[in-house]
Amino acid sequence: MQFHEFGLRLALLDAVQAMGYKEPTPIQEQAIPLMLEGKDVIGSAQTGTGKTAAFALPIIHQIGTHGPGPRCLILEPTRELASQTEESFKKFARFTNLSVSVVFGGVGYGKQRDELKAGVDVLVATPGRLLDHIQERLVDLSGIRHLVLDEADRMLDMGFLPDVKRIIDRCGKDRQTALFSATIPPAIETLIHWAMRSPVTIEIGQRRTPAETVKHMLYPVAEKQKKDLLRALLDHVHYESVIIFCRTRRRADDIEALLKRNNHRAAAIHSDRSQKDREGALAGFKDGKYEVLVATDIAARGLDIADVTHVINYDVPQHPEDYVHRIGRTGRAKATGDALTLMVAEDAAAVRSIERFISQTIPRVKIESFKYDYTALFDDGKDGRGSMADRKVKGVRLTGGYYFGPGKKRR
Ligand code: ADP
Ligand code: MG
Repeated sequence: MQFHEFGLRLALLDAVQAMGYKEPTPIQEQAIPLMLEGKDVIGSAQTGTGKTAAFALPIIHQIGTHGPGPRCLILEPTRELASQTEESFKKFARFTNLSVSVVFGGVGYGKQRDELKAGVDVLVATPGRLLDHIQERLVDLSGIRHLVLDEADRMLDMGFLPDVKRIIDRCGKDRQTALFSATIPPAIETLIHWAMRSPVTIEIGQRRTPAETVKHMLYPVAEKQKKDLLRALLDHVHYESVIIFCRTRRRADDIEALLKRNNHRAAAIHSDRSQKDREGALAGFKDGKYEVLVATDIAARGLDIADVTHVINYDVPQHPEDYVHRIGRTGRAKATGDALTLMVAEDAAAVRSIERFISQTIPRVKIESFKYDYTALFDDGKDGRGSMADRKVKGVRLTGGYYFGPGKKRR
């Protein structure tokens, strides 16, 4: 297949040629004709497979003469992705007279304000800053005819779902909506239902939800042994980078202190820490100075931390959506990761709702060498699932008692 077979405008074919693209990638081959027909499209394909051109080319082809406000809106989770996408759009639109602008947080408002006032055809944005501009009435989305939710899985991981919904509410109803994502976790299905009209789904390669790429494990334990078990777990598991989630700021402080006492390179982020401390912790975690980041859910929202090898839930999240957000940090795209959750007796109900939410039974695991105190969770059926020894789980070897081997070192 060749780009000229799509029937794209000459200005676009020239731009594609100038970029050195010889032939369309599989996601482009499938998405471009559907987008040109005006269909709503869900595209899932690995990172780096050319999703930007898959939506940019057909949208630029369809956008007509200048209107008063933007007619195309692309939402992106991070400023880096937003500016990359803006650059790509500018390159694809270079032989047209469309104007393309980007708005994202963390920089001044002046330049963005001026550009919005001057009028733009294609707007690329991160959700938070776009809402600021909407509040100031600098941008009106009622003329949007093409909406793209790009990198949707990361957008949800970062806690942007409420912002994204508020933005979509303001977009013109008569529009084409496309959603692109490396994975389609359950939380995205609700967004799809809500924002799209009879979408056509294109999946390149295997469809991967975090539930499939991530190995989930539950570690039942008595409340008073949680800290000891956490330490044993960290000794047991070969991780490269791990985020530990705690229910409260206080518990995050305690765990950070415990880990530091035990010679782990750890840092914590939560809302009582100064901006400077949080930035230091985050930068240190990203560049490998810290191997463990202890976080509360709220602090972890809106942070771009991708691709950790392990997520440990020191506390079971009370809402299944939070579990999905937390594990979204691992097992992205091709890589696999592990999500390990400490569970005490009173977590049984919360665990059941998580299992329902991810449509998966999570294996209960014991660390063989750990001296366990009794907990009701070890009794048959007490958490409503029968004895742990009875449950054999595909791909996990059951050895004496009910011990499942730890995750092997990868990469
Ligand atoms: P994704 O959004 O799927 O992660 P991008 O759209 O960012 O991927 O594209 C990844 C890289 O591949 C970019 O550098 C882009 O210019 C390049 N690319 C996209 N489509 C083609 C193509 N048809 N031929 C050659 N390179 C391409
Ligand atoms: Mg992309």
